[in-house]
Amino acid sequence: MFEYAPAPESRSVVDLKPSYGLFIDGTFVDPTDGGSFKSINPASEEVLAEIAEAGAQDVERAVRAARKAYDKVWGPMPGRDRAKYLYRIARLIQERSRELAVLESLDNGKPIRESRDVDLPLVAAHFFYYAGWADKLPHAGFGPDPRPIGVAAQVIPWNFPLLMLAWKIAPALAAGNTVVLKPAETTPLTALLFAEICQQADLPAGVVNIVTGAGDTGRALVEHAGVDKVAFTGSTEVGRAIARSVAGTSKKLTLELGGKAANIVFDDAPIDQAVEGIVNGIFFNQGHVCCAGSRLLVQENVADRVLESLKRRMAQLRVGDPLDKNTDVGAINSAAQLERIRELSDAGSAEGAERWSPPCELPDRGFWFAPTIFTGVTQAHRIAREEIFGPVLSVLTFRTPAEAVEKANNTPYGLSAGIWTDKGSRILWMADRLRAGVVWANTFNKFDPTSPFGGYKESGYGREGGRHGLEGYLNV
Ligand code: NAD
Repeated sequence: MFEYAPAPESRSVVDLKPSYGLFIDGTFVDPTDGGSFKSINPASEEVLAEIAEAGAQDVERAVRAARKAYDKVWGPMPGRDRAKYLYRIARLIQERSRELAVLESLDNGKPIRESRDVDLPLVAAHFFYYAGWADKLPHAGFGPDPRPIGVAAQVIPWNFPLLMLAWKIAPALAAGNTVVLKPAETTPLTALLFAEICQQADLPAGVVNIVTGAGDTGRALVEHAGVDKVAFTGSTEVGRAIARSVAGTSKKLTLELGGKAANIVFDDAPIDQAVEGIVNGIFFNQGHVCCAGSRLLVQENVADRVLESLKRRMAQLRVGDPLDKNTDVGAINSAAQLERIRELSDAGSAEGAERWSPPCELPDRGFWFAPTIFTGVTQAHRIAREEIFGPVLSVLTFRTPAEAVEKANNTPYGLSAGIWTDKGSRILWMADRLRAGVVWANTFNKFDPTSPFGGYKESGYGREGGRHGLEGYLNV
């Protein structure tokens, strides 16, 4: 492999403050009964800022602000006027996208190439898309006069911090709801910059409120009696706890949870393209992707060829500084996540699967894990069953399409799947039988605001994106 000259993106475009308050009722405020915590750069372990932690009283303040804004301003506002605010926010995101992308890479550890070329364009596209719906709700197929639900409590994870915010906030506001959003504790910074963008857009106070903190803050928010809707993206375990706490109340609930997608390669697939798809499926965003193609199912007669090409391709991946524009694989988001990936990978070796990583030098500081594949994996292995949420691929083989379907569906999850084949008829046959919310054919990890996304079984319920994404925010 030839050497690249470093191509670092400048971090001077980001104006980091030493500390951040909570964003409630249009202004940044200090917590009343909470504390604070630090957000660090996972690529260097450098402290980026001190972040306010919202306590129960702060959550109460935020929900009250959202209620007032809903009753007095946002709920009664005509859709065409709400649309103007959403368009303004979308344009401001585009104008400030470099700043947002650098901040996202600093706080999350993802390569700047991805935050700049994937996350930020999709974030802006989501706001543009739902801005377009705000004045057309009677034509969305939910009756002649669909009404908003009220105050939405939204809790999001750390893997796509700003994109998950956009998936939550854009449809909620378009439909006429107000929101209190809690970002993940390891990645709060872009949500706080988004709060500044709401101020810049003159969004009425209280329409968007951001409360930072960890699980306790999230629990206080979703359990608050004053919220009408709970939208959660995160682990299946926490999703279950939230479903239990919401049961028996009148709150409406949508859950986007984990996944263990099969990426299925048939012997007639163009192998080089399939290998690109496998790499994109599991090493994009360090594998911190709920719909990651973490189980490769490859037809037995081409398995050796596919694995040889895959290993050659993996040896080209550049792991390192997220702000370097050459980087393909960045840092693992936190020490805790690194520990989970290590534990499950060690279990894979202990259970008898064969582990392989290309030679690669990892930085001394920060949280890193080399791209890894396991071969000789059986369906009983933990690495084939449990979500690893890291750059680790389990490889299994199959002989017939029916066997591929059976193995692909042999999981408690049902979020996504990929099919690689030359035959259109086989794509349709497989897609009909795969129990997954999203099925990609001859591509993987493609997202678009017009397309609904969501899971079956333990991957959750409800859909985000597209016209379907409005349903969770309307009384229909
Ligand atoms: P997590 O469930 O631990 O945390 C997610 C969020 O919930 C965080 O903001 C956290 O602070 C908060 N939280 C934790 N405990 C809570 C509680 N008891 N009540 C309310 N909120 C609480 O998940 P994670 O490790 O941060 O994220 C990874 C998981 O998210 C993976 O399982 C992944 O598959 C899933 N995910 C799913 C999707 C999807 O669209 N289906 C998208 C991204 C991530």
